[in-house]
Amino acid sequence: SDTIVEDFKKELEAKGLKDEVQVVMTGCFGFCEKGPIVKVMPDNTFYTQVKPSDVAEIVSEHVIKGRKVNRLLYTDPNADNKHISDSKHMGFYKKQIRVALRNCGFINPENIEEYVGREGYMALGKALTEMTPQQVIDEIKKSGLRGRGGGGFPTGLKWEIASKNAADQKYVVCNADEGDPGAFMDRSILEGDPHSVIEAMAICGYTMGATKGLVYIRAEYPLAIQRLKTAINQSREYGLLGTNIMGTGFNFDIELRYGAGAFVCGEETALIHSMEGHRGEPTVKPPFPAESGYNGKPTNVNNVETFANIPVILLKGSEWFASIGTEKSKGTKVFALAGKINNVGLIEVPMGTTLREVIFEIGGGIKDGKKFKAVQTGGPSGGCLTEKHLDTPIDFDNLIAAGSMMGSGGMIVMDEDNCMVAVAKFYLEFTVEESCGKCSPCRIGNKRLHELLDKITKGEGTMEDLDRLRNLSHVIKDTALCGLGQTSPNPVLSTLDNFYSEYEAHVKDKK
Ligand code: SF4
Repeated sequence: SDTIVEDFKKELEAKGLKDEVQVVMTGCFGFCEKGPIVKVMPDNTFYTQVKPSDVAEIVSEHVIKGRKVNRLLYTDPNADNKHISDSKHMGFYKKQIRVALRNCGFINPENIEEYVGREGYMALGKALTEMTPQQVIDEIKKSGLRGRGGGGFPTGLKWEIASKNAADQKYVVCNADEGDPGAFMDRSILEGDPHSVIEAMAICGYTMGATKGLVYIRAEYPLAIQRLKTAINQSREYGLLGTNIMGTGFNFDIELRYGAGAFVCGEETALIHSMEGHRGEPTVKPPFPAESGYNGKPTNVNNVETFANIPVILLKGSEWFASIGTEKSKGTKVFALAGKINNVGLIEVPMGTTLREVIFEIGGGIKDGKKFKAVQTGGPSGGCLTEKHLDTPIDFDNLIAAGSMMGSGGMIVMDEDNCMVAVAKFYLEFTVEESCGKCSPCRIGNKRLHELLDKITKGEGTMEDLDRLRNLSHVIKDTALCGLGQTSPNPVLSTLDNFYSEYEAHVKDKK
């Protein structure tokens, strides 16, 4: 993509068009499978899988002569491979509603004026000049927004608790420590629309009386870090961060803290310890961070996607937001589609969309015409769902009832060739690697689980080992200290429930 951008600039300059046609780098369009994507505006033509060698033709044909380059348009596999030039008619986008991703792919994330041009910072202005902190909290509560990091705790309530704990200093923390295999939701939001998170953190600071914000972000996300830094500096220049914001007397500023890629640091107490310079280990709750968090002060932690929803809720209203989704899960959810699916990418759908719609309509079905076997939702903490769950409307509660969880939004699709015991073993390997080692059920129990799975996949397991797997999984779930350990046996339990015959086959066929 970088090469394509540079080639466009050179080509336009060579054709004497450099002052008339802008080349703008945006964030992710979501349709990763068809990238790199080039959109020609204002006619909204969406070119897919563009190569540097295509640049000259797009300029000479489309930009200069106004003729679309058909061979680079998306071809619809469901309509005789018809060319489609407008993304809203593509199966991948038709059922999506973009709230958290509203600006990704539309604006240059390194230009604050493009964000302001799409109502950016208006929600902060509204909060500071027209609303009391409690009115903002009430609006978020009424919207029904629940934390998108995995737990699904009501956001407005979380803010209210933090607001009621008096202290000389409070903190707003953005958890950008996305670590699930196959997940890239938060990274894409920060790379594509960093100001939406900054604006939301300032709004949160206003409601709880915090003047400091911290973004805990993986050091492995260099582009997200760079864009966030640029956005923070621009916000300061425009008086939207710092002292006396918008002349209202409200002070708020943001600093970055870097994580070293430990999965457990996504857990809020471990994250706070890591930010303080200690080992990233969880502690027992209570006390919750809202009472005693960063440096022992009241701290509110939300993840990137949760924050990205906030400005729109304040501008469009809680009723609008609550009109999207299901009874207990309002709004939309961003998912990263990965694995054996045709349209790998980043999507945002209303809560209540079914797995079938996500996998077969938006995701375009299974690669190479193979048969769908399972989908892992919720990352390593989630579970494998099968054919019988395909018509389940996706929301926090339905996924838990089906034996999995929403998690932060990773979705890995498996086809008929995947061995589900191997899949469970893969996730266990990840957990064993990422366990912080503080408590024995997780440190030792997961190692034993992994050894059992290894034995079974080598054809050396017994039927008793299958019982041991299940029993040990329940002990770990019941006794581990933090969410990582409490959910780590989920892939084992869900595959035992849904694919027991595959475990039996390994044992009986000795392979
Ligand atoms: Fe650490 Fe695992 Fe215990 Fe969590 S459950 S505290 S990750 S050892």
